[in-house]
Amino acid sequence: MGKLRTKRIGVMGGTFDPIHTGHLVAAEEARIQFQLDQVLFMPSGYPPHKEERNNLAAEDRYVMAVIATADNSDFKVSKMEIERPGPSYTIDTIEQLHGEYGKNTQIFFITGADAILEILTWKEPEKVLREAVFIAATRPGYDLAKLEQALPKVEKTSQAQDPQIIVMEIPALAISSTDIRIRIKESRPIRYLVPDGVCEFIEKNGFYR
Ligand code: NAP
Repeated sequence: MGKLRTKRIGVMGGTFDPIHTGHLVAAEEARIQFQLDQVLFMPSGYPPHKEERNNLAAEDRYVMAVIATADNSDFKVSKMEIERPGPSYTIDTIEQLHGEYGKNTQIFFITGADAILEILTWKEPEKVLREAVFIAATRPGYDLAKLEQALPKVEKTSQAQDPQIIVMEIPALAISSTDIRIRIKESRPIRYLVPDGVCEFIEKNGFYR
């Protein structure tokens, strides 16, 4: 019998407050570029490094992620970090996922480049970098030198065999959750910046006003 192929799982980590089209474009780009079998959106429960709490409760951020990904069978949403008590440390998530999917699974952790910039200050950074490949999604105009200077082994290609941190440029990330929250406060439109269902859910619940 042939050797079993290593499963490749993408994990989209973030607060998703709210999830928007830029996140979906980034997940799809990573799925194709890194030949992922599935992308698991992982809304954080209580993110470390954050003094102020998120704008919305974890459950509401989770529901929006479910609505946004409902029509894509390659995308799933996990409650793992929301249900785990205490701060959402990425190393705990990766280990829990290896427990569920098996050690033979390669995890690609996708998140914003600014978050990755801080990776050396995360819990157990050496271990976290050993256990997963990190994909830093950048917005247009992002200064790559910041990442290259701060971190070891940053590569700008998906072809390299050994890198732990790979940069992925996503023009659609000109959309940001912060901008969406400001737009809602100022009664400006968010249609097409977030999926229709998310737009309706935000409106129905009066979020971010
Ligand atoms: P955040 O506040 O949601 O995002 C920081 C920046 O990255 C924002 O510009 C954000 O843009 C962007 N971003 C976030 N998630 C993204 C994604 N999946 N794809 C593309 N861009 C994304 O997130 P955070 O609190 O910095 O944390 C990011 C991830 O790192 C989370 O999974 C968190 O658990 C993990 N983390 C772990 C540790 C640790 O283990 N000690 C410490 C810090 C962070 P938008 O606002 O538009 O999303």
